[in-house]
Amino acid sequence: MTPGSTQNPTLAEASQAALKVLSQNPAGFFLMIEQGDIDTANHAGKYNQMIACSADLEQAVAAVIDYVNQPDDDIGWDNTVLMVVADHATGYMRLNPGVVLGSGELPEGGDVSYGTAGHSNELVHLSITGHMAGALSACEGREYPGTQILNNTVLHSFILRAAGL
Ligand SMILES: [Zn+2]
Repeated sequence: MTPGSTQNPTLAEASQAALKVLSQNPAGFFLMIEQGDIDTANHAGKYNQMIACSADLEQAVAAVIDYVNQPDDDIGWDNTVLMVVADHATGYMRLNPGVVLGSGELPEGGDVSYGTAGHSNELVHLSITGHMAGALSACEGREYPGTQILNNTVLHSFILRAAGL
């Protein structure tokens, strides 16, 4: 893997620091964390860098989960929603023909090709857990019946509702 950045602190450390400060607000808080180097790596067609940046994001998400799971504070999954989502896809990356992967296997750099150096209109994955997560699941398929697809404009109203606004 090729790191997207070797700057300090790591995204996980920066996330923990932000949570430590913002959680002091008794009215609650909103924190958006972006691993923007995933996009940059895919613009450049650098698969190995994209994987490293995705691992960086995974570590940041794990740090957030650990923070919420800490005992002896007012932060828990009954008053916190954690959403992990891309704002768009980039690169239209695909496995090369003939490449077969087993469950949990990642392709090697030569196993993939990029279809564009720009953003793409592919669907992106959304993971959500915690407070009111089920309310968002209930919106699946509204525009596209029979699917689990959400229109991204739903996220704005969901965030406001989850925050009690
Ligand atoms: Zn971009």
